[in-house]
Amino acid sequence: MKISIFGQELRSLNAPVDIMVSPQAQDDFLTLLEAYKIDTVLINDVEEAIEEESRSQRVSPRLARGEVSFTEFMRYDDIVAYLERLAEENPSFVTTEVVGRSFEGRDIYLVKISSGGSNKTTIFAEGTIHAREWIVPPVALYVINQLVEDANNSYMYQDIDWAIIPVANPDGYEFSHYDARLWRKTRTPGTICHGTDPNRNFDFNWRGIGASSWQCDETYAGHAPFSEPETQIIRDYVLEHKDDIKLYLAIHSYGQWLLHPWGHTLEEPENVAELKELGALFADAIYAVNGTEYVVGSTADVLYYASGVGNDWAAGGAGIDLSYTIELPINSFIVDPERIVPIVEETWEGFKALHDYIPGLVMTVPALEKSHAGKMEVDSVKEVFQRSEEKHNVKYAQYIGDGDSKTSKATLDVDPYNNDPKIIHYKLCNYG
Ligand SMILES: [Zn+2]
Repeated sequence: MKISIFGQELRSLNAPVDIMVSPQAQDDFLTLLEAYKIDTVLINDVEEAIEEESRSQRVSPRLARGEVSFTEFMRYDDIVAYLERLAEENPSFVTTEVVGRSFEGRDIYLVKISSGGSNKTTIFAEGTIHAREWIVPPVALYVINQLVEDANNSYMYQDIDWAIIPVANPDGYEFSHYDARLWRKTRTPGTICHGTDPNRNFDFNWRGIGASSWQCDETYAGHAPFSEPETQIIRDYVLEHKDDIKLYLAIHSYGQWLLHPWGHTLEEPENVAELKELGALFADAIYAVNGTEYVVGSTADVLYYASGVGNDWAAGGAGIDLSYTIELPINSFIVDPERIVPIVEETWEGFKALHDYIPGLVMTVPALEKSHAGKMEVDSVKEVFQRSEEKHNVKYAQYIGDGDSKTSKATLDVDPYNNDPKIIHYKLCNYG
């Protein structure tokens, strides 16, 4: 009986796994499940589900060029047209950059959202490195849409820059639209099978546990680390900006997991406490929207062993301490378009929580510098810090500004590994 592991690859023992079987094998397979008292059918007929998904695509109104949609799945050209329109209409804070070309020659776009200046703290996100994960482009586009098109969010790119590659594997993404809906890899040719799994192709424990050396496997790591133009592009951008990038996000589906390093070992990274603390902020913010429950943990622990994955390379190869893979909460790669809006909305709240945690560079409000040289304010910041000192890795605190009814936010950046922590930077600003 030929079966394929449908969702993510084989997980650890006793963990759930999604399996796709041919119609001929379905009866036998169901009998087997019954014998072992295993009984969950996620999708009865995958082909029918794909047809249903594509029917709902067709009844959607055609997109005007430069528009964005969260009720259907956009093709790569339409995504690019939207990004270019945003840059054209908002030249003071949105830029698009072609950071490289895919194997088949498509331009790969990075969107930068920034109030200007250089060497600023940056949040980097890459999406759609896996072709079939169609819920990912809408999530990346919604983050861009909210940052750029809702003026209430303009505070989010004052002290922090955003660098987002919404579709890192456009060849595979387009292939999943016009040919094979469940295509995962890049489109580089092999001698027998096409494609490398770009999320096993990063040069960190390359081709170790959980990555394949066989070209026809879904997790084929490639013939060399960074063999794929799609991963080279991410590598080059991240290494060039590694001193500024404080948070690396790889957006994937599916699972309801926020995964931190590592994938190749159950050993915990040095900063696991902070990764879990920030992860909990992300998960709580999302839970508050629709009650979606994320599990926060390491890739190897929560999901399966994997080597050469983007967020592990970001942490272990590029030295970016805060690095995650987000597995978006659906139960298949095939997505009912009605699910897009609730998922993008709740995930956006998670992104906001991540943003609020990441401290800006040293920055003081000009009025404070002029008046009491910030001394009093520094003391109140210290006071807030001391109240939460037992956590030893506080990076974020909130307090009510004195004499002013407005809520002020104080962002603290302290050494998480110092047992006698001291404030390195502080920043105060009124968010109204
Ligand atoms: Zn993926």
